[in-house]
Amino acid sequence: LSTADMTMIELTPVAVTHSPYKEKFAIPRQPGLAPSVISRIDLLPPFNVPEALAGLEQVSHIWLTFYFHGVGSKPESLRVRPPRLGGNQRLGVFATRSTHRPNGLGQSLVKIDHIEGTSLFISGADLLDGTPIYDIKPYVPYTDCLPQATNTIANSAPVCLDVTWDEQALQTAEAAANRIGESIVDIVQECLAQDPRPAYQAHDPAKEYGARMWDLNIRWRYPTQDSIRVIGIDKA
Ligand code: SAM
Repeated sequence: LSTADMTMIELTPVAVTHSPYKEKFAIPRQPGLAPSVISRIDLLPPFNVPEALAGLEQVSHIWLTFYFHGVGSKPESLRVRPPRLGGNQRLGVFATRSTHRPNGLGQSLVKIDHIEGTSLFISGADLLDGTPIYDIKPYVPYTDCLPQATNTIANSAPVCLDVTWDEQALQTAEAAANRIGESIVDIVQECLAQDPRPAYQAHDPAKEYGARMWDLNIRWRYPTQDSIRVIGIDKA
């Protein structure tokens, strides 16, 4: 390959994501952390034929390669501040899973819930609604699972916060769950327990936070540094 051949490639999305996450805030920072979330991956033409998925019924998990389409601008720096390091330490972009990267590509390992025609239903994805998928590959345990691997930047899953509910918010969530047919209470709890706050934000018990999921706006506060109170669920 000449340098010219290597500079540009054109990619066509093979699928599109439908997820409850209507904005980036409050999406877990990695897959598998909110396992109750079911997202749908629809194959796009000309790849939307069942034969493209033939054999996948023998596979429990898949790798998704996708584009961070919700990142506004090209990154200006190759250094980023990972939230789990408190937001005040800068690392090289290639040492992190930051969304602000030169080619804007993300990679998530997700569980297949079930397959219907040319749609894949997956659990625990960390993907914004509308995320374009550029490739789908089976997880292969004998080579992808490396128990001896180390990463001292991200040694273990982040500690979860306690999530409690105002009675009215809980009732609204349960009613919405019946209407939409989704485990809204479990999903909100799993997502908020990850602490969506930017890591460097000082604790303010009066400050209200919100995020859009489905057609709802979820609102919460932090009564203490390590706990969350869901205070409202409104139609977005
Ligand atoms: N697991 C992937 C990876 O390692 O490449 C993504 C990690 S990234 C830190 C996860 C965050 O990306 C989510 O919390 C959400 O805020 C953001 N995100 C998800 N889908 C996105 C999209 N399509 N565009 C922009 N940001 C997105």
